[in-house]
Amino acid sequence: MLPTRGYAAKDATSLLEPYNFERRDLALHDVLIEVLYCGICHTDIHQTRDEWSGAIFPMVPGHEIVGRVTRAGSQVRRFKVGDLAGVGCLVDSCRVCSSCKDGLEQYCEGGPTFTYNSFPTNEKTPTYGGYSSQIVVDENYALKISPKLPLANVAPLLCAGITMYSPLRHFKVGPGHRVGVVGLGGLGHMAVKLAAAMRAEVTVFSTSKSKEQDARRLGAQDFVVSTDPKRLASLLNRFDFILDAVSAPHDPNVYLNLLRRDGVMVLVGASPMPLDVHAFSLIPRRRQLAGSMIGGIRETQEMLDYCADRNITSDVEVIPIQKVNEAYERTLRGDVRYRFVIDMKTL
Ligand code: NAP
Ligand code: ZN
Ligand code: ZN
Repeated sequence: MLPTRGYAAKDATSLLEPYNFERRDLALHDVLIEVLYCGICHTDIHQTRDEWSGAIFPMVPGHEIVGRVTRAGSQVRRFKVGDLAGVGCLVDSCRVCSSCKDGLEQYCEGGPTFTYNSFPTNEKTPTYGGYSSQIVVDENYALKISPKLPLANVAPLLCAGITMYSPLRHFKVGPGHRVGVVGLGGLGHMAVKLAAAMRAEVTVFSTSKSKEQDARRLGAQDFVVSTDPKRLASLLNRFDFILDAVSAPHDPNVYLNLLRRDGVMVLVGASPMPLDVHAFSLIPRRRQLAGSMIGGIRETQEMLDYCADRNITSDVEVIPIQKVNEAYERTLRGDVRYRFVIDMKTL
């Protein structure tokens, strides 16, 4: 076993603190990755506080991981020692169901193994995430990272980036489409950059007036304070596609009513409380409401390559791991532009 240092939450009410544990020895197809940077996703906050229930403690969160391969199993083909590598939200799946065969491991019918807070098939030890010195992962679930881009800014692509890229691609968003992004946080700011790169016309809906300049700099053509009823009324039936990346309870009908006929709204934000959808927000214009979860391994690689080609990365504030609890509080207050990333050499 491989002694590993990390930060963990002991239970749903405690702060994260140093925690030592062991990683498995390398199997034939495993790589050992020294974690260099790990992003802080709002999911880490939901999970360590058990807001979605089912939390496994102690929990080492973190699924926006960029690092360097330090050891490789004897059958590893895609990586060699010294290569950069990324790990996102998935570290395994059944590999035989129709979703896995389609490269949609995130929808694996038996349930994928998530990077943390998850039990690998037939194992009693849960997975532990990227707030740690190193991680062992099957090479088929690791991503190639280009050395071209600053690594701290690349880390959030592994969750925030792919979570927005996948629905934009699935629903074929492209030039001239009117796209709304609700909630300018870690996910939302990646949605703006990616949709703008796909030459959509982007409008940001935000509760924070102070984010307007940023929204425009990130690529939005319009910015709407979501508490302004007059502005909202002027935008009814206008949008082709809306991505809702809000982390807390809110009224989805406000945005559904902005969709044109056959428009689609995709919910990616995972509020712990149910959202009320009115029948007449959907029925009269045959509007669609969908969900979407991260992306498969193949599509995550496609997104990383797409971003490397176009110099797209996340706007980050790099912090030492000792500030992780403060970063959680600041994320909850909306006081981050737009993603905290932990510099793991401070561990
Ligand atoms: P984040 O950085 O905290 O951003 C969330 C944004 O939501 C905030 O910046 C804020 O934007 C808005 N917001 C927060 N509280 C609000 C409220 N009470 N009412 C209205 N708007 C509010 O979080 P994130 O990391 O982007 O994650 C967003 C959500 O997506 C989380 O629930 C997370 O678990 C989920 N998630 C889902 C997937 C998936 O695969 N579907 C993947 C990753 C994360 P403004 O200041 O602009 O209003
Ligand atoms: Zn995430
Ligand atoms: Zn499967």
